[in-house]
Amino acid sequence: MSQKEIPAVEENKKSLNFIEQIVENDLKEGKNDGRVQTRFPPEPNGYLHIGHAKAVCIDFGIAERYGGICNLRFDDTNPVKEDVEYVDSIMEDIQWLGFQWKNVFYASDYFQQLWDFAVQLIREGKAYIDEQSAEEIARQKGTPTVPGTPSPYRERPVQESLDLFHKMNSGEVPEGKMVLRAKIDMASSNMHFRDPILYRVLHIPHHRTGTAWKAYPMYDFAHGQSDYFEGVTHSICTLEFVVHRPLYDWFIDQLATGDYRPHQYEFNRLNMTYTLMSKRKLLQLVQEKLVSGWDDPRMPTLCGLRRRGYTPQSIRNFVDSIGYTKYDGMIDVSLLEFAVREDLNKKAVRVSGVIDPVKLILTNYPEGQTEEMEAVNNPEDESMGSRRVKFSRELWIERDDFMEDACTGCKKDEDGNITEVYAEYDPQTRSGMLEANRKVKGTIHWVSAPHAIDAEVRLYDRLFIVEDPAGEKEKDFRELLNPDSLIVKKNCKVEEYLAGAVPLDSFQFQRIGYFNVDADSTGEKLVFNRTVALKDSWKKQNS
Ligand code: ATP
Ligand code: MG
Repeated sequence: MSQKEIPAVEENKKSLNFIEQIVENDLKEGKNDGRVQTRFPPEPNGYLHIGHAKAVCIDFGIAERYGGICNLRFDDTNPVKEDVEYVDSIMEDIQWLGFQWKNVFYASDYFQQLWDFAVQLIREGKAYIDEQSAEEIARQKGTPTVPGTPSPYRERPVQESLDLFHKMNSGEVPEGKMVLRAKIDMASSNMHFRDPILYRVLHIPHHRTGTAWKAYPMYDFAHGQSDYFEGVTHSICTLEFVVHRPLYDWFIDQLATGDYRPHQYEFNRLNMTYTLMSKRKLLQLVQEKLVSGWDDPRMPTLCGLRRRGYTPQSIRNFVDSIGYTKYDGMIDVSLLEFAVREDLNKKAVRVSGVIDPVKLILTNYPEGQTEEMEAVNNPEDESMGSRRVKFSRELWIERDDFMEDACTGCKKDEDGNITEVYAEYDPQTRSGMLEANRKVKGTIHWVSAPHAIDAEVRLYDRLFIVEDPAGEKEKDFRELLNPDSLIVKKNCKVEEYLAGAVPLDSFQFQRIGYFNVDADSTGEKLVFNRTVALKDSWKKQNS
């Protein structure tokens, strides 16, 4: 059989990731009555980052691809760190990526159902109130090879546990004095089965339920049950939950009344070079003002990447390119940079921007004369058209492009800095770009000085100087920050076409890179962020 004859179906199979294969198999076998339902379950304790985008793309992507639904469920079982600010930003970022949930749910919507289920477990002798401290309980856990020690409260009467459970929730029990634990198996080889904690006391108002509850369910006691209450079929999460899966299934078995069961599947989380992905550390960067906020363009957050000039398509392409596996690894951040370069190459108008300007005067060009020339907006896309660009006797060029031998002279200030350079103009070599001299040693970019507009340009680079900031256990992550991750250039000149640009608009500054308009722009001054340089300069530096 020649390659061409391979059936289309087979071709398609090859490109499926392992989760899609599972879903297709389940559909083929008629599981869940042909239903596909997923959820994206963020804890509203921070902004979404590029790692979350990987989870968003599979959760929503699976539902889209197989005609199912994906709900957004806020996993808000810990009032200590949660806030509505995060809820709003999470919704904005998911929609920005181009996905839409069917329903918004909150784990806190199920506090009553979870409570009732906990009461059921106590009644069945499968849960008890433990009055030991968290430290004491941790000490008795044992190790994977040494069985744990049963709590002295393990065999207390059902009624006693029921009464105390109510007291845990009424405000009579201080934080840390009691917990509700499942009574499973203190000798299990799976540590999660050694009487896991189901409820603890927190005297902190919840962003949705206020002071109604004082006893709050733990993640493990809320997640799977929430999946079950909602009718989730495929509960997709990251690999660190593999060891939690037996407990997830155990709770569902206690709860389920029919055949339906949600199932958990785990994929490799995204770890990326030169990047920290822990919400706790990102929050520290924000709180200690080491970055300007969650949306600082150096942050791996989706709002940071958006402000930096990343398009939703570039992020989705990146996620597609790295795929989903069952093994953890480290992704090179240059793949993300490649994805945005590739997308903007197709979409961004080519303009002239001079970052470090020096004035070039064409001494043989008539004073006061202006010509216009046609400039193609994007050679990759004819439909983007062209525009008129002005040319005159005085041009701004990059200081780095100034070559003394190509010039007829220059003017310096008292410190010896060149302020103006002089050259003769050769009409034969003029084009959208100016050839530097008659032998056409190189091409430079320029902006007509009388027509240029002022701009500030923020040159962003990687936030961390080391490849694996999370792996540097010896050092505090704040010592690993790249001191040159932001360089501000205040006196840049850009062509007048950019006068109408608004925040988030992206452009290619020819020969330099991709830039977008920052929200800090004012009527007087545009502010541009460097999204990414035209070429990957880190590779060169480090090899
Ligand atoms: P925390 O560090 O506070 O536990 P988290 O990063 O796990 O938070 P959640 O809000 O619990 O964040 O995550 C929501 C979903 O996103 C979960 O399904 C989680 O597995 C997934 N997720 C989080 N980080 C990554 C990552 N780096 N790569 C892929 N998926 C991720
Ligand atoms: Mg989590």
